[in-house]
Amino acid sequence: MNARKVNIKCFGCQMNKLDSTLVASALGRAGFAISGNVENADIVLINTCSVRRHAEQRVFSHLGHLKHIKQKRPELIVGVIGCMAQRLGVELFEHKAVDIVCGSTQIPKIPELINKALGKQCQSLAVTEQIRKPDNKNDKALDDFESAYSTAQQNLSSQAFVRIMRGCNKFCSYCVVPYVRGPEVSRNPKTIVEQAKRLSAQGVKQITLLGQAVNCYKYATCGKMYCLADVLYEISKISGIEWVKFITSYPTDIFYDQILQAMAGLTKVCNYLHMPAQCGSDKMLKAMNRKYSVNKYLELIERAKERVPGIEIAGDFIVGYPEESEEIFAGSVSLVKKVRYKNIFVFKYSPRPGTKAEKYAQDDISQEVKRRRNMELLAVQEEISGHLAGEFLGKTVRVLVEGPSKKAHLEAENKDNHYQLVGRTAEDWIVVFGGTKELAGEFVDVKITKTSPLTLFGELT
Ligand code: SF4
Repeated sequence: MNARKVNIKCFGCQMNKLDSTLVASALGRAGFAISGNVENADIVLINTCSVRRHAEQRVFSHLGHLKHIKQKRPELIVGVIGCMAQRLGVELFEHKAVDIVCGSTQIPKIPELINKALGKQCQSLAVTEQIRKPDNKNDKALDDFESAYSTAQQNLSSQAFVRIMRGCNKFCSYCVVPYVRGPEVSRNPKTIVEQAKRLSAQGVKQITLLGQAVNCYKYATCGKMYCLADVLYEISKISGIEWVKFITSYPTDIFYDQILQAMAGLTKVCNYLHMPAQCGSDKMLKAMNRKYSVNKYLELIERAKERVPGIEIAGDFIVGYPEESEEIFAGSVSLVKKVRYKNIFVFKYSPRPGTKAEKYAQDDISQEVKRRRNMELLAVQEEISGHLAGEFLGKTVRVLVEGPSKKAHLEAENKDNHYQLVGRTAEDWIVVFGGTKELAGEFVDVKITKTSPLTLFGELT
C-alpha cells in the first residue's frame, strides 16, 4: 500500500519551523510520506502562529482553501497545530475543514491523532488544559520527542535548530507566547549536547540554539548552574559542528558577560546577536512590561560591540503600541540610529486576546499611522544597512551555502548546472553568488563585488 501523504504548512517563527521539522521527522518514521503538495495530500497540517492577528488571518484563509478541496475529497484530514490551536482549542472545530486540533505542547501526540482521525473519521483534540501549570511528565514527553526526531532543517541538510528552552515567563504585555507555550523550562545540557552530537553525525555543520529568551537559559545539575555560555562551550567541542548561533536574546545583564566571553573566545560561536529592543522610550518600555530602560539597552549593545569585535546586531521593534505619540516614535528612530543594527524586524502592533495590552490598553493608533511609522523606521534602517553592507566591497567572506537562490538576483540564470546560490555569513549577512548546486551545505569563500542593504553579492574565490 502507498504511504499516506502529509503536507505541512508552517506559519511563524523558528520555534514553529523546528516543531514542523520534528513532526515531519516523526511522521516519516511512522510510515507517512511528506509531500510539498496540498492538492494530492491525504493529510494537511497547518502549524500556526498567534503572535500577530495577521498570522491568524492567513491561517483562516488557508483553511478556507482547504474547505474547498475537502468538498471534492471528504476523506482529506486537516489538522491545526501550534500556538493558535492551543489558544482557540475546540473553537477551531467550528470551521468545517478541521479534524485535528493540537497545541504546541502536545505535538508528540500528532501521529496518534492522525491515525485516530483516519480510522474513525472523527475529530481529535489535544491541548494543554492549564498551560501555565508546571507539568514534568509533559516536559519529559516533549524532551524525548525532540531528542528522538531532531534532524536537519528541510532543504538545509547542513543546518539544524536545537531548542534549549521552552515557554516564557517574561509576560511582555503585548505577547501571547506565555499563554500558548507555557512556563519557561530549560532543557538538561547533557540532553542538548547529545542531541547536537547526533546532528553532527548526520552531517549538520551549523546549529542554532533556540529559546524565547535564549540568554536566560539556566539549568541546575550536579551542584552547578549551567547557563547559555556553558552550552556554547560544550557544543563547540563537537567535531563537525563549525558554527553555533543562538536566538533570541532578551536585554538583561544576567549571564551576559559569560555569554560575551564565550562569543569572543570560541571561534565556532558566530558573532551575531539578535536582541529585540521593541521601542526607544522608557515610558513605552514600562507599558510593555519590558524590564530595561533605553540606556540599559544601549549599554548592553556597547558592551557587546566592545568585547566581541565584528559583532552584528539585529533587533525587533513594535510600532503603533497604544498611546505611541510622535515623540515616543522618534525615540525608536533615534535608537535605531544609535545602535546601527545590521537589520531590524518591525511589527505593527495588533492586540492579542488574553494579553495585558489587549485587556487594559486601547488600540488607539490608526492603521495608517502604524503603516507610516513602520515604513519610516525601515527606511532609516535601510540606510544604515546600506552603509554597513558597503563596507564589505572588495572583501572576502566565509559563507555556509544554503542552495539555489529563490529570487533571481543575478543576471546568470539557473542553468547548465550554474546557479545563483544563496548562503549566510557567521554574522548572518545574506550572500548571493554563482556556483554549482553541489556546493549546498558547504563552506565557501566569496569575494564581494556588489552590495545592497540586505544582500551582499559576489564571486567564489
Ligand atoms: S520575552 Fe516577551 S516578547 Fe519574547 S516571548 Fe517572552 S513574553 Fe513574548
